[in-house]
Amino acid sequence: MYKNIILLGSTGSIGTQTLDVCRKHNINVVALSANSNTTLLRQQIAEFQPEYVCLTNEEAGNNFKAQAEELGVKLIIGKQGLVQLAQLDCDAVVLNAVVGIAGLEATLAAINSGKDVALANKESLVTGGKLVMDAVKRNGVKLLPVDSEHSAIFQCLQDPYSAKKLNKIILTASGGPFFGYTKEQLETVTKAQALKHPNWSMGSKITIDSATLMNKGLELIEAVWLFDLKPEDVQIVVHRQSIIHSAVQFVDNSVIAQMGVPDMRLPIQYAITYPDRFECPVDSLDFFAMKDLTFAPADPDTFLCLKAAVEAIGKGGLYPCAVNGANERAVQLFLEDKIAFADIGRIVYKVLSHFNFSSEYTLEEVFRTDKEARAFVDAQLL
Ligand code: NDP
Ligand code: MG
Repeated sequence: MYKNIILLGSTGSIGTQTLDVCRKHNINVVALSANSNTTLLRQQIAEFQPEYVCLTNEEAGNNFKAQAEELGVKLIIGKQGLVQLAQLDCDAVVLNAVVGIAGLEATLAAINSGKDVALANKESLVTGGKLVMDAVKRNGVKLLPVDSEHSAIFQCLQDPYSAKKLNKIILTASGGPFFGYTKEQLETVTKAQALKHPNWSMGSKITIDSATLMNKGLELIEAVWLFDLKPEDVQIVVHRQSIIHSAVQFVDNSVIAQMGVPDMRLPIQYAITYPDRFECPVDSLDFFAMKDLTFAPADPDTFLCLKAAVEAIGKGGLYPCAVNGANERAVQLFLEDKIAFADIGRIVYKVLSHFNFSSEYTLEEVFRTDKEARAFVDAQLL
């Protein structure tokens, strides 16, 4: 088990649940970061006594200076602060629970400073998968999945002999609040409906991604990088109950699945205690209370974000980064009531055919592609 943690995105859904795990297992919190939620960050500093905190939002950071001094914590302001925290000279795991491409540089910085990374920020792999995986290999560090599906796959692949005989991955999806809807029905759904996930309580961006099925597309790309697979080796299966968190199939057609109640504290804890297991404040699975476990295909022709993500990883290069950037901007516009729910899929799909994103895979090109994709989304509003 890691004794020390640097937690990026501590005020979010994954961040607060990570602190539950730290509380339970007395893990020392070296550093915390938030974007602007100083009220919650203040409480977290008082309880966990980190040495450093970062506020990426400059205004929030400047307003917090006096409080940081009073609390006896070193404050770093601005988005480069995430990189500084990730590079701190100490023996700690970095758990990255920032949302969006904003987490990418910190993931790379942590790996390049020789630290293991527990990764919730799937956008790091979607936008910069090649850079991240090359850095992992170069530095000989561990990249531990926090995303529940990828943790499930990782748990199913712990036998090194079988892991070499992997045939395919079954990536389960809850289907979100609009599973079974037609294209026409998606035209009239509201923000409140989209923000109401049937099984998980999460931050607003990933909740919308779950409703559009972009989340499953991002997770497919994440799985391809993490487990070194071809996109066609990943089968997406809608499993409404979110009990089977994903499964692996070996060459002999034997399938191993990981199951549990839907509670992120389990995959978070496994990433922190890996390869060991400890008690976890998560309910046990009651097999007699489970009525049905159902399985169905996803519908990419209705949920265009999924179609865009699958095509993007098929094309390779920076196409996944482009669809991610378009999606981040489109979700933001949807949450600001500037576009309708069905526009998200339409716009994200459209970006694929609009540019040639097969340029060189460097960090500069990743950010340029992201910017270009966002600008493309904004241009659709004119
Ligand atoms: P939240 O929106 O709940 O939290 C995001 C965190 O990042 C907050 O601490 C927030 O600070 C901070 N943040 C927001 N914007 C920025 C920025 N531009 N720069 C730096 N920090 C920022 O997200 P979740 O916890 O739901 O998700 C975090 C990541 O984990 C995402 O990549 C998501 O896809 C992934 N994930 C989440 C799951 C879940 O159950 N929630 C499950 C699996 C994966 P502030 O509070 O100040 O805004
Ligand atoms: Mg997931």
